Amino acid sequence: MSLVIVGTFNLDTIETPQERRERIVGGSGTYCCLAASFFTAPGIVGVVGEDFPKDTLELFKAKGIDTEGLLVKPGKTFFWEGRYEDDPNKRTTIATEVNVLKSFRPQLPDHYRDADILFLANIDPDLQEDILAQVNNPRLVAMDTMNYWIQTRAASLLNVLNKVDVFFANDEEVRMLTGELNLITAGKRLLEKGPSLVVIKKGEHGALLLSKDFVFVVPAYPSETVVDPTGAGDSFGGGFLGYLDNVDSYAEEDIRKAVVYGSILASFTIEKFGIDRLKSLSSDEIESRFAEFQKLVTF
Ligand code: AMP
Repeated sequence: MSLVIVGTFNLDTIETPQERRERIVGGSGTYCCLAASFFTAPGIVGVVGEDFPKDTLELFKAKGIDTEGLLVKPGKTFFWEGRYEDDPNKRTTIATEVNVLKSFRPQLPDHYRDADILFLANIDPDLQEDILAQVNNPRLVAMDTMNYWIQTRAASLLNVLNKVDVFFANDEEVRMLTGELNLITAGKRLLEKGPSLVVIKKGEHGALLLSKDFVFVVPAYPSETVVDPTGAGDSFGGGFLGYLDNVDSYAEEDIRKAVVYGSILASFTIEKFGIDRLKSLSSDEIESRFAEFQKLVTF
């Protein structure tokens, strides 16, 4: 097992100005593992209730995802409802029901404990810490989060941040965490808090990667089709880490390519509701968008 992903496996109700979809499959772990599955065979850790669709569990397996760490418990799956404004970067959380996640105390399957890369995707920071303690000697630990945890559990979150190598966050979260408006200043503050790489996702404005040695910026794929922005950040993380796991290198050149693959996976996810686009996506489509990105940034 080389990449282990801990995250949420949810049912989401999503409303955009055009359409409303009720109780579709979502969650940070879901988007992330599907995105990573184009590059590697990740193992996942999380919990779902009995109402989580069986065909999604089958889809995970068909994509080569190891589901041994995903527990099915009596009760209801974590539920989240969000609404987007006309500006797809503006999202309001309408409801969060923790349900089966409330009593979840993860136990990693033995063969997950020697993971090379551990991704603590967006989930309760105490669970992130709990999992981190169960992995023996990971070469790379990454984490993501969201405004909900920054507002309710900042101390626990900063504690985990201190123990990771890579921190993914969007521009709003970075500003909220540091109190800095300028993203470069904010990124530098975060580099002082533990991680050696900070990746700031800026929605339609692309992504910014900061390390102590270099800065890298990539535009977002210039797309006119934004149907549902949900899961873009998680798909970014999955694409980024899936690629690094595949090439088995953390050289600067590969980290730069990983940012591009992350952006590409995010750009596909938002083309349809929920996980629909990731379901139909092919590796050829990913590679041809990679070539388009190369043209886009060459001058
Ligand atoms: P993203 O658009 O990448 O920020 O991720 C959206 C996903 O995060 C949705 O599918 C939600 O189900 C999931 N989500 C919402 N609230 C939480 C939360 N508090 N913790 C973890 N995942 C959440």
